Amino acid sequence: MVEWRVVARQTTDSLAEFQRQLLDWFGAHRRDLPWRRTRNPYRVWISEIMLQQTRTAAVLPYYRRFLRAFPSVAALARARGEAVLGGWAGLGYYSRARNLHRAAKIIVRDHSGRFPSTLDAALALPGVGNYTARAVLSIAYGSPLAVLDGNVARVIARREAIEGDLRAPGQWKRLQAIADRWLSGRAPGDWNQAMMELGATVCTPRRPRCGACPVRKGCRAFRLGMAERLPERRKKLAPVRLRIAVAVLLDERGRTLLLRSEAPQASRVADSPGDLATLFSRMWHFPAVASAGDARAELSSHLAGEFGLDGGQWQPLAKLRHTVTFREITIEPWLVLADSLPTAARGRVVALDRVPRMAVSSASRKIAAAALNSLRGK
Ligand code: SF4
Repeated sequence: MVEWRVVARQTTDSLAEFQRQLLDWFGAHRRDLPWRRTRNPYRVWISEIMLQQTRTAAVLPYYRRFLRAFPSVAALARARGEAVLGGWAGLGYYSRARNLHRAAKIIVRDHSGRFPSTLDAALALPGVGNYTARAVLSIAYGSPLAVLDGNVARVIARREAIEGDLRAPGQWKRLQAIADRWLSGRAPGDWNQAMMELGATVCTPRRPRCGACPVRKGCRAFRLGMAERLPERRKKLAPVRLRIAVAVLLDERGRTLLLRSEAPQASRVADSPGDLATLFSRMWHFPAVASAGDARAELSSHLAGEFGLDGGQWQPLAKLRHTVTFREITIEPWLVLADSLPTAARGRVVALDRVPRMAVSSASRKIAAAALNSLRGK
């Protein structure tokens, strides 16, 4: 059990003063971001989902483009799955787009097309966790709900001089209780954004800018000279290294075979870090097999067993490196020239030069580009 210790308890400022200082600072220094110019719950929700796992600067063009394509919950609910994934292409973590799409259909069906206004109903939507629900409800509806994300947790840990792993069992709950206590009932949405903004721009993970901090007066870590070493770094998971052999089949008309994997069971994903459906984001992908030895032999036997495909002209393509969370993947692709393409139950035949423009994972896009470059003699 990781020790959790509040190093010092004395403070000179009151909660009300802290709230005023932070809200005044936010009013003067907030970054002008498109989702801050609206209280439309749909737009706030889209921005919160995009901002999970993606930096603010990277989200900006996707946010604008996605809202042009799907300007309302109803438009998103009506869209085809392929179109939604296409609008998300490049942002990664595609389960976010699938969940958005499913949630939009539920909102239209069960909530008259409006993002629900109670915490329980919001939490029942796919892809909406405690953080997202609280962020959308506080910003769009002014609900008195405090958010807790990595930025907020860091500000709390430093201000309270809390040691130990913040993600250890039970600790997150304790941080949430502090966030709840600090919440300004006057402007919950602004308060939540101010806390996150402070963590993102001043109370940063490395080299916090305490000299420019509007709330340093009541900050225990600052007073004790501990700001740089709090919160304590998490121990990194050891990376899992995988090799995947991939076949870019090609017939004489320049067409290739793509497959779509079944959605993996949650337990299988956890047990099997090499699950191909997960690696290819459950999108269209080239035939592939996890390899432990002779990649070409394993791929050849996979093609024969699965599709009855023997022979063909095999040409190795440049190996690719790809990282998905804790997995470091080496992809060994082959171009396989075949007289005809096999049929597959969950397969689809498309022109190879169309693949980079399709809603496929970035790994599949890189593989298609390697094959096309090889065919063009690059
Ligand atoms: S004084 Fe420093 S450590 Fe404390 S909240 Fe401000 S930036 Fe963070």
